[in-house]
Amino acid sequence: MAAARQVTIREVALRDGLQSEREFVPTEKKLAVIDALSQAGIQCMETTSFVSPRAIPQLQDAAELMSRVARGNIIHEVLVPNLKGAQKAIVSNVDRVVVFISASEAHNQANVGCSIGDSLADLQTVYSLLKQHQVPAAGIIAVSFGCPYQGRVQKTDVLKIAQRFVDWGADRVMLADTTGMASPAQISEMIGYVQSHLPDVPLGLHLHNNRGVAMANLYAGYLAGITQFDTSLGGIGGCPNVPLAAGNLATEDVVFMFEEMGVATGLDLPGLIRAAQLLEKILQHPLPGRSPTGS
Ligand code: ZN
Repeated sequence: MAAARQVTIREVALRDGLQSEREFVPTEKKLAVIDALSQAGIQCMETTSFVSPRAIPQLQDAAELMSRVARGNIIHEVLVPNLKGAQKAIVSNVDRVVVFISASEAHNQANVGCSIGDSLADLQTVYSLLKQHQVPAAGIIAVSFGCPYQGRVQKTDVLKIAQRFVDWGADRVMLADTTGMASPAQISEMIGYVQSHLPDVPLGLHLHNNRGVAMANLYAGYLAGITQFDTSLGGIGGCPNVPLAAGNLATEDVVFMFEEMGVATGLDLPGLIRAAQLLEKILQHPLPGRSPTGS
């Protein structure tokens, strides 16, 4: 298969990135970052999450953010952990919902406090509610490439969950390397395996950079036929339940790589760097992204 000449970037800094930040970022400032991202051409974003404000105080303004954010230029996706979150997302008129589950029992327990079986039962209800309200839904499978508690994750376990998501109406499945445990060989193998069983389902990759291997993993995913990648402005992010979890790949670094390869992202690199500079100013600490921001 010839590698694609065009890829889609799903920006996750506002959710996956900010949720690991200690200081609450006021809604006004989040809106300014979203505006800068929009000016740089971002078309799809995980804008926030309807989770318990006690669990993730950084995202406590989800409803307010969704009521104030400009609509039309960007597809605003929100992450929901359960039915309550999905109901709030529907009321907030989000463009798309993303539901998540872990591929390992131990991580699912740590992340949402229940077994994979119980989570799947809940998510089936979530999907059916979303369908009823005609809200498109995608699914993300955390720790698809390795679990910090359990170690290896079986391909069959990932496929089983992906299959369920698709049966319930997910229009896309994202495989997440939540704690940066994957290798390029494993990425190729997993993608090939899932694609061979679910050939018509668009797959995305969500990669963390704990061991510095994420860019190589992203490239392996690209060669395996993936055209949608989650990245985070400035490379911010982590996982609140995993100590020392490193950030996502920086949007600007990934865009640099693809554009230099002649693969279109539809994004404006100087505009992304300006957005990263703004984010750095707001967060008041250096960001892990490598592209020179001039600061
Ligand atoms: Zn993540």
